[in-house]
Amino acid sequence: MVQKILIANRGEIAVRIIRSCKQLGIETVAVYSTADKDALHVHLADEAVCIGKASPTDSYLNMENILSAAINTGAEAIHPGFGFLSEQTKFAELCESCGITFIGPNAKTIRKMGDKSMAKRLMKEAGVPLVPGSAEEVSLNEGKQLAKEIGCPLLIKASAGGGGRGMRVVRSIDQFDKAYHAAKQEAKAAFGHDGVYIEKLIENPKHIEVQILADKYKNVRHLGERDCSIQRRNQKVVEEAPSSEPLTLKAQMYEAAIKAAKAVDYENAGTVEFIVKDGTFYFIEMNTRIQVEHPVTEMITGIDIVKEQIRIASGEEISFSQEDISFSGHAIEVRLNAENPKHDFRPSPGVVKLFHMPQGLGIRMDSMLYTDYEIPPYYDSMVGKLIVHGRDRLDAIRILRGALEELVIEGVDTNQYFLMMILMQDAFVKGDIDTGFIEKHIERLLNYET
Ligand code: ADP
Repeated sequence: MVQKILIANRGEIAVRIIRSCKQLGIETVAVYSTADKDALHVHLADEAVCIGKASPTDSYLNMENILSAAINTGAEAIHPGFGFLSEQTKFAELCESCGITFIGPNAKTIRKMGDKSMAKRLMKEAGVPLVPGSAEEVSLNEGKQLAKEIGCPLLIKASAGGGGRGMRVVRSIDQFDKAYHAAKQEAKAAFGHDGVYIEKLIENPKHIEVQILADKYKNVRHLGERDCSIQRRNQKVVEEAPSSEPLTLKAQMYEAAIKAAKAVDYENAGTVEFIVKDGTFYFIEMNTRIQVEHPVTEMITGIDIVKEQIRIASGEEISFSQEDISFSGHAIEVRLNAENPKHDFRPSPGVVKLFHMPQGLGIRMDSMLYTDYEIPPYYDSMVGKLIVHGRDRLDAIRILRGALEELVIEGVDTNQYFLMMILMQDAFVKGDIDTGFIEKHIERLLNYET
């Protein structure tokens, strides 16, 4: 097994990775920007190296400085976490050429899956069901022609897309040109590549994804699925495992996810994402990295996914068979953001005057907060995740409500009450959820007093 790992990330995921490394007896190197010198991941790691100024391009996206830090500290491997460099082919290639193990799939696989239209082509060949639409990037005229064939409503999506950006809904064909140019423009600004493709819009589907682990020896396991349907602007807010889909449908999704992984000789942890509507599922994309919501899978399987990533990257064979994996109870995660939901979810950086973390059986909090910590304004507003595990879904909902009630974050605005309002809705308790849930219930969800 590798002996020393550099974590090329910040925030709660850097903290979470360091914790697993410690449990495996692996030394850790944190990297940090000048804005993060007092961050928790810097305190927890065995060594820490400043890699640049606050702006992500100067620091957490600065490949040269991160690789120099790894070489200078003798780190044999780099864990990229999620976001930042985690899905950048060039970074994985540079690690390979510097003789540093990139904890993730190889550069070729990242390239194939990172280009969503290429991923769709590969999945089509592998027999994985796709949303009707184009598997190729389309020009304005090709797109419009296809739009007429498949019919509105449809979605124009960026090939390089992520985080719900570069996506536009077209409800009637006369909106097509405007939406096409807008999607291209947004994609260019966000990802530097403006290729777009077209998909039928599946109205208010469920988002269900399958967690995969695969090693160098062609062993592929699935760790079950997560329901991530509670989203705001195509970004996940609440995630849970297992989903309430029928067992036969789940089995088909597991099979498709394994097929998808095998089709690209996948290695390490990955997630195959589907949307589900009226008993039919469609592949949308594969994420070639650890995901924010991985803890709900860990809670119901007892498998530490980060440890497995490290073992796989060290060349070990997965030590359990598919039959060895069992699922117990129900887990739910909520994403805590420093933001003000009542002011259009405006980010709220600043000093955390008091932080109290809820505790008790079945409660886990992955966070980088501590009392007097100053949340910098330069990065994502997510400051942690509260994850609970209960006997069944209702038990998990009750544990999570209690934990959210106990949580104290003073000094900055957070979405704590907004999350509580989601958990209080009858529709949520009944499991009546889809990707339109937040939009549909928004007035009630914002109707709280702080
Ligand atoms: P990103 O990589 O930007 O997150 P995804 O392709 O994973 O984009 O889609 C994000 C979310 O957008 C999905 O979870 C779903 O809610 C919605 N979505 C994506 N494709 C479709 C579609 N064809 N029809 C309806 N909703 C979709």
